[in-house]
Amino acid sequence: MSYLFPTYARWDIEVKKARGVYIYDTNGKEYLDFVSGIAVCNLGHQPEQVKTALQKQLDQVWHVSNLFHIPGQEELAKKLVEHSTGDAVFFANSGAEANEAAIKLARKHTGKHKIITFYQSFHGRTYATMSATGQKKIQEGFGPLAPTFDYLPYNDRNAVKSLNDSDIAAIMIEVIQGEGGVVPAKPEFLQAVEQTCQKLDALLIVDEVQTGIGRTGKAFGYEHYGISPDIITLAKGLGSGFPIGAMIGKGKLIASFSAGSHGSTFGGNPLAVASAKATLDEIFHSAFLQKVREKGNWFKALLKNLLKEEPLVKEVRGKGLMLGIELVREGAPVLAAMRKEGLLALTAGPNVIRLLPPLTVTYDELKKAAEIISQALHTVAASSAAVK
Ligand SMILES: *Cc1c(COP(=O)(O)O)cnc(C)c1O
Repeated sequence: MSYLFPTYARWDIEVKKARGVYIYDTNGKEYLDFVSGIAVCNLGHQPEQVKTALQKQLDQVWHVSNLFHIPGQEELAKKLVEHSTGDAVFFANSGAEANEAAIKLARKHTGKHKIITFYQSFHGRTYATMSATGQKKIQEGFGPLAPTFDYLPYNDRNAVKSLNDSDIAAIMIEVIQGEGGVVPAKPEFLQAVEQTCQKLDALLIVDEVQTGIGRTGKAFGYEHYGISPDIITLAKGLGSGFPIGAMIGKGKLIASFSAGSHGSTFGGNPLAVASAKATLDEIFHSAFLQKVREKGNWFKALLKNLLKEEPLVKEVRGKGLMLGIELVREGAPVLAAMRKEGLLALTAGPNVIRLLPPLTVTYDELKKAAEIISQALHTVAASSAAVK
């Protein structure tokens, strides 16, 4: 029996060790890891520089709380600000917490209440972020939800343009919907979102918890679109596996988060900050990001070519190393066939296979993964034909 709440449908794998792009289970089986702890281990498992930074920090100070000045927070915040549209940073411990901070700040700053989000979005599991998440299955049984979140269809430019409500504090959006199916926003749609925010005097919040930290081949996903978010939220890849979240905001918002208005005991903990600084030292370089874009484009083209005759495959899409393969049926049996052949990946919605390899993955590993995916699709297609 288990002593855990069964909140997760877990795979039948016990991890013994993880290094680079590989995970090894307790039976000695080796897996190519295209999950990366859900877009967290962007430098692979146990990246040397992060390990060294953490070990150094372990010998200095672990935790003191935000009653003290923590120099590393300033350095990390400076780095985030220099690479984004923002001017100040608040540190949290997770994506949901970063989004909570964003929602609170948007209301406090504008004095307005409503937050607009999108169907199939994912923003977290706390009360406010679950309410912001435009998916019934995530909210079911937990009502009443936090007021007031309204949802619009994603990529529907006209729906956004027709917004006309004086109580809208913010529009919150993922530039590529992650959990919802690896769905990139259309450029003209995001432009309409930005223009509508300006028209309504509402803030533009971009949830970069999954798309940020180099995942799409840019430091932040919004850079593909030339928009200028007021607030950016981060978590997943920021700490290479050490829990940390962050909210970056424009200068005009600074006065609305004054002393005592928001806080977190662990937020910006020295160990978390050390791991994030070391992570960004690697990822926030144009040469590194350029390589991610090149590998991503190459991998997407390879998959498209390899799978173009595949009857189960509807579309291959995504940016950088955040790719989705939409199927005409459920992805779970295909994932299981892939795991058997030593490749770990995840789904996004029921029908999409989501590929999130470490950004340090090699061309050989990408090629091997593409072959396993192709083989797994054949196996599943053949066995479902046999059942019929
Ligand atoms: C994972 C995710 C979250 C939630 O992050 P947690 O750290 O699990 O709270 C929020 N937004 C997006 C886009 C995510 O992918």
